[in-house]
Amino acid sequence: MLSGRLALVTGGGSGIGRAVCQVMAREGARVVAADLNEASAKETAALLASAEHVGVPLDVTSEESVAAVVRGVRDRYGAPADCVVNSAGITGFSFLKDMSLETFSHVIDVNLKGTFLVTKLASNAMIEAKTGGSITNMASILGKIGAISQCNYSASKAGVEAFTRTAAKELGRKGIRCNAILPGYIDTPMTSIASDKIIKMVMPLIILARKGRPEEVAELAAFLASDRASYMTGASVEVTGGYGL
Ligand code: NAD
Repeated sequence: MLSGRLALVTGGGSGIGRAVCQVMAREGARVVAADLNEASAKETAALLASAEHVGVPLDVTSEESVAAVVRGVRDRYGAPADCVVNSAGITGFSFLKDMSLETFSHVIDVNLKGTFLVTKLASNAMIEAKTGGSITNMASILGKIGAISQCNYSASKAGVEAFTRTAAKELGRKGIRCNAILPGYIDTPMTSIASDKIIKMVMPLIILARKGRPEEVAELAAFLASDRASYMTGASVEVTGGYGL
């Protein structure tokens, strides 16, 4: 259960992030859904159907924007978020031979630098307020196995996993646990753009023979944030239906 907890979920306007908001609210947390798309963040908050949940604009690539959200949460609730989930993410498809530096960098900026910025500022706020807490980062099974035409995405997610282990080491003594989730192929707007060719390639590799549902990842995020996972830190946990075995 997450009653009494205050969750900040980046990418909370869509897909896995929205499902995390829904499961965490169901478990009793107050939820701040933060997203580049302000309207979708507010839509998530409206779905949660209580005024204690809010949707706010956030660009994880901007230190100013991240600082404003972290400050805004503290001002609104009188405490920092003690249950942070980094779910904001993008991808960009191109074979290595054609990938522009811009396409590579943009994905690294959002997925890896964004995770760094939110983790840094949110954990600093927890340390200042002496609340402790948990930070859960969405990495990906593709960070382990590598995805053809997504070297940017695969590298960013391997980076998120390594970053999470370092954060866990530095923050553990402050009562802050950091873990990474490695989803497989999950049915969200991000994967809805995949071509039939990609779907045909991936499906035979999934042992459970179907895409995952966002809630199936969100359940793990809620568990990792809760006291049921009180001895877990620095872990990378796969939710893949066996994809990547
Ligand atoms: P999604 O596209 O449905 O949601 C991503 C959200 O991130 C969107 O609402 C988008 O507006 C937001 N976002 C993008 N750039 C942002 C920025 N600069 N600042 C703040 N918000 C920003 O995608 P999803 O499938 O729900 O993915 C969520 C996370 O899970 C991502 O980190 C993704 O890489 C990871 N993941 C997804 C899958 C999958 O199969 N869907 C698999 C492995 C990992």
